Amino acid sequence: MSRFFSEKYNFLKPYTPGEQPKEKKYIKLNTNESPFPPSPLAMEAAAEAAKKLQLYPDPDCRELTAKLATSYGINANEIVWTNGSDDVLNFAFMAFCDQKKKAVFPDITYGFYKVFAEALGIPYEQIPLQDDFTIRIEDYFHCHATIFIANPNAPTGIPLKIGEIEEILKHNTDSVVVIDEAYVDFGGESCIPLIRKYDNLLVTQTFSKSRSMAGARLGFGVGNPQLIADLNTLRYSTNPYNINAMTMSAGIGTLSDAAYTEKNCKVIAENRALTMEALSELGFSMTDSKANFIFARHNTLGGEFLYQKLKERGVLVRHFSQERISDYIRITVGSKEEMEVFLKTLSNILEEFL
Ligand SMILES: *Cc1c(COP(=O)(O)O)cnc(C)c1O
Repeated sequence: MSRFFSEKYNFLKPYTPGEQPKEKKYIKLNTNESPFPPSPLAMEAAAEAAKKLQLYPDPDCRELTAKLATSYGINANEIVWTNGSDDVLNFAFMAFCDQKKKAVFPDITYGFYKVFAEALGIPYEQIPLQDDFTIRIEDYFHCHATIFIANPNAPTGIPLKIGEIEEILKHNTDSVVVIDEAYVDFGGESCIPLIRKYDNLLVTQTFSKSRSMAGARLGFGVGNPQLIADLNTLRYSTNPYNINAMTMSAGIGTLSDAAYTEKNCKVIAENRALTMEALSELGFSMTDSKANFIFARHNTLGGEFLYQKLKERGVLVRHFSQERISDYIRITVGSKEEMEVFLKTLSNILEEFL
């Protein structure tokens, strides 16, 4: 820390992204990226946009907005675009939380929520998941706080039903409820259709996972026009050009190729089911994940140990040292070939150490 760093950041602990090692070639099952390349339409559109990089991009993202509006049957003023969905989450913390309105989220969830709150000096409360890692919705009734819920949740992959989210919305009419749908395309149910019914609902999504564009950084928020206007006020007060021209064009290409995304999500769901079956034969128990990852724990070997041994053998998974989940590893569901190598490597480890 330099002697110039504002002391308001004394206690700031930055988010730790999953490893992106370059020193050797790993089977990468640690950051929930897609194993599939972007849509060919996205790649062509980005290459075309590269020819005009001397110009600023459209800060209103009009063409991209029109595409998304059509695909979800919503209006342009119900959409805000951001640099990955982390960016819209950051804006939501800035816009809807303060000393009088704390943030509330589960104790086990996306680690960035806590970092956003701390970086912005926002008080927050973490509500423990139940022993089976499910959310008890009654714990979120009458919170008088801005609520952040990943649906499906991370790193458990467990979804809430739409009806359950509606109950949370109905019992918090004085607060914004943010539903982070980073993983919804892999088997969850989106609550975007509820935005007209609940003016306190903000839904966030990303192009990083199901849409194979993690490297391009594209995310968005959907909600009541007034909520969206608030987020745009902050966006235009910080970085109106947060969506660069190549990313914007790639996003348009991806939305024009919905069948490609849909097919990939189907393959991931199939690979998830096959891998879970194999894992259970190897002595693992798992949550009922509807995301593009599996959250698994072995009946004898620890999470940290498995993470290390897999890494030594060229397979990267994610391990969290947080107490309640330290026995688990989170495995991104990749291609069929990747999952075969993962399972083979894992059986070798079990043979050696059991
Ligand atoms: C990956 C992820 C995000 C955001 O990813 P971006 O790449 O910034 O869009 C948000 N929430 C959850 C729960 C995630 O796992």
